[in-house]
Amino acid sequence: MAPEEATTDPQRPGKSEPADVLVVGGGPGGYTAAFRAADLGKRVVLVEREATLGGVCLNVGCIPSKALLHVAEVVEEAAALSAHGVVFDAPRIDFAKLRAHKDAVVAKLTDGLAELANRRGVEVVRGTGSFSSPYSLEVASEEGSRSIRFEHAIVAVGSRPMEIPGSPVGDPRMLDSTSALEVDGEAKRLLVVGGGIIGLEMAAVYHALGSQVSVVEMLAQLVAEADADLVKPLARHIGKRYAGIHLETKVARIEARPDALRVYFEGERAPASADFDRVLVAVGRRPNGEQLGAERAGLNVDEQGFIPVDEKQRSNVSHIYAIGDVAGAPMLAHKATHEGAVAAEVIADLPSASDARAIPSVAYTDPEIAWTGLRESEARERKLEVEVARFPWSASGRALGIGRSEGLTKLIFDKRDGRLLGAGMVGPNAGELIAEATLALELGADAQDIALTIHAHPTLSETVGLAAQVAAGTVTDLPPARARGSS
Ligand code: FAD
Ligand code: NAD
Repeated sequence: MAPEEATTDPQRPGKSEPADVLVVGGGPGGYTAAFRAADLGKRVVLVEREATLGGVCLNVGCIPSKALLHVAEVVEEAAALSAHGVVFDAPRIDFAKLRAHKDAVVAKLTDGLAELANRRGVEVVRGTGSFSSPYSLEVASEEGSRSIRFEHAIVAVGSRPMEIPGSPVGDPRMLDSTSALEVDGEAKRLLVVGGGIIGLEMAAVYHALGSQVSVVEMLAQLVAEADADLVKPLARHIGKRYAGIHLETKVARIEARPDALRVYFEGERAPASADFDRVLVAVGRRPNGEQLGAERAGLNVDEQGFIPVDEKQRSNVSHIYAIGDVAGAPMLAHKATHEGAVAAEVIADLPSASDARAIPSVAYTDPEIAWTGLRESEARERKLEVEVARFPWSASGRALGIGRSEGLTKLIFDKRDGRLLGAGMVGPNAGELIAEATLALELGADAQDIALTIHAHPTLSETVGLAAQVAAGTVTDLPPARARGSS
């Protein structure tokens, strides 16, 4: 029930009173903000245009992609065991069952969110929201349109995939990150346009499920935001397995032929035109800030579609907040949830702000790449005085045991006070290992703090302690010169 309607429930906004907090968008940012505000005693209305809560992340992003990536990982690991003397038959894949598994995981989580909203008394209104004034939102749905008034609003409308020019419109063989999740075995030859995180995660899924995968990336490096030394082991691993990885290459045009999509490339290193069964475009995401009638609320939206905010997530209109993908990079679910809680707490007059020292990033590729805080490339660009300590996984018993010695753990310390500024890892489970470095960074740890923390043996997490020992000059698991050889 919306605030303009009469109600007998004292917890719910009535005809004469606006909602304390109106949240537009029910993704990780929006539902976290709504739930936190409700827990802090606010009367909350949450507007979402899709049938389920959870946004991109739960419905068509993080969760379904990781359900598929888990399957990919097991398939690849089983195949890799042949080098250890254990040979499995090639997998037989029931695509319908695989899709059903993915959908069941998503449904369990989105149903859980609906229940959590209900238990908190958060009113969920289905429809597309558009500001009609600084204090009211018009919500349009199949049932009609209604106006909801509010005292505070939190904009959490997320982002959408970007497109490339010169590609056939409406051809079902052209995939985006959403349709690519509907794996069906028809992509015998898959071209992935964009060697960023989405492109490479989906490439891993399709490769494991039997596709011949090619990747084109316009820059000189895959996962361009990550340090080159972390990307190298991934590039080498997939370079041996994929049909082609073409850097500094763009798609010039795609011709829809009856039997295939013919793709023409451009760039100094561009390959000849080639035919593919499916083309996945994963060239970045665009924030949804301009789809909201923001001007009627006096809300600033920049040219890219972001809503600029301060550290309290407040926009230029002091009672309207923005969080998550629409509030700026990095476009990550855990950044959105963090900002959602901050916005709700600020509205409830708590002393909260988005002042995290580090936001971890993880590419769930094989091997995984993860980084947090300052990157080495950034330290160089900014000419910061840092000490970089590396521990190669070729010296880790656990990494050797799982047959993955290509990994690397590096820690970046401030030369002035010895504190950890950043960390990067590549290797299986790097996405789990990065948590320790993020916590160490938030707690202001230095190399000794990490080096003297006893890590269980034999684990991959030991490599964090050992990299810190490299910086502290105490490592005994490397030759002496190496032990002193941090840069
Ligand atoms: P969103 O999740 O985009 O939610 C916004 C919501 O607002 C949507 O539900 C939308 O329907 C709704 N909405 C928009 N406009 C309106 C309107 N006018 N009225 C009403 N409702 C509206 N991030 C990670 O951290 N880890 C990962 O592993 C990861 N994997 C990903 C995999 C893929 C394939 C993709 C595409 C993304 C992935 N991401 C991942 C990114 C992550 O999904 C986003 O950063 C996150 O969902 C952003 O949350 P949000 O709340 O800002 O917005
Ligand atoms: P991205 O920005 O990470 O990568 C896009 C890549 O496409 C870039 O490397 C870019 O240089 C390249 N590119 C752009 N135009 C091109 C063209 N015309 N031809 C060839 N290459 C081109 O974007 P994405 O992979 O689409 O992901 C979007 C965002 O979603 C990410 O930045 C990330 O924030 C989020 N995400 C996170 C995860 C995760 O945390 N594991 C997973 C998926 C998505």
